[in-house]
Amino acid sequence: MLPDSTPIRGRFAPTPSGRLHLGNAATALLAWLQIRARGGTMVLRMEDLDKPRCKPEAADAILDELRWLGLDWDEGPDIGGAAGPYAQSERLSRYEAALAALDAKGLLYPCFCSRADLLSASSAPHGLSSEGPAYAGACRRLTRAEREERAARKTPSQRFALPPDRPWAFDDGIAGHVAFPPGAGGDFVIKRADGIVGYQLAVVVDDIAMGVTDVLRGWDLLDSTPRQLALYEALGAKPPRFAHAPLLLGSDGGRLSKRHGSVTLSGLRDHGVGPRTLVGYLAWLVGVADRPEPASPQELIPRFDLARVVREAVRLPGDWMASLRESQS
Ligand code: GLU
Repeated sequence: MLPDSTPIRGRFAPTPSGRLHLGNAATALLAWLQIRARGGTMVLRMEDLDKPRCKPEAADAILDELRWLGLDWDEGPDIGGAAGPYAQSERLSRYEAALAALDAKGLLYPCFCSRADLLSASSAPHGLSSEGPAYAGACRRLTRAEREERAARKTPSQRFALPPDRPWAFDDGIAGHVAFPPGAGGDFVIKRADGIVGYQLAVVVDDIAMGVTDVLRGWDLLDSTPRQLALYEALGAKPPRFAHAPLLLGSDGGRLSKRHGSVTLSGLRDHGVGPRTLVGYLAWLVGVADRPEPASPQELIPRFDLARVVREAVRLPGDWMASLRESQS
């Protein structure tokens, strides 16, 4: 547990692989509110590690759209700060240092499994829904000689060896008490064979280095939390408080996409929807406002209560575009 006297610090951590949609905006709003309502510091970190997936122009567009919503931050790639740099692509030496520390503790091993090997083992128990099937551990059991022989033919990925019998549990600020079975999802890839550092490691190294006390992010990352708790422990750091915001789904219950209307912030702007209309509507959808009335993020602070955020995924009403326009007029 973090001591109560630790200064409150939160973060937005967007991946610049595309434009922000309504769900990202709702999560960003909640992350900002939970920090600002307690007088804390907000950090913006660009998670641009997976270069092939990231688009440089998307990073600028995301900053612009967050500002348009009325959100702000005290440290970030555009303004700097004491814990910078704030783009993961500029922090690689820190991840390598953490990998070396974990390796020195004997917590990493090379994995030579192909995609086909992994798929054929996909009936392994304890898979975490958003993290794919649990790795059955074939390469954990290789001898030193077998590792050397395989490494001569193939560049391996590196996996983090989770303690096998250890259950993981934590109290989530929105989801409540969450418990995971021992082995929580299996040993995970911490560095890919192409050299790209895994999300789990980068996010933990950065949240530690940036002094983040309160992580609020999308529900799709709830299943990543036990892996990150294991990394905090292995790196000898105290984990932050976690809260996972409900996902926003289309009116048919499917993932938000174009068929549900203009679900990106840029699309809504083009339709003349204003930021106060959108912020008030999102606050109502996720349970922190009683009515979908226009409001700035600042105006929501006095009434903000994390306990009011709904725990289930939220479906957009079928007529959401019409009701947005109505609340604007
Ligand atoms: N970069 C991740 C995303 O855009 C968020 C990571 C996190 O909040 O831990 O989904």
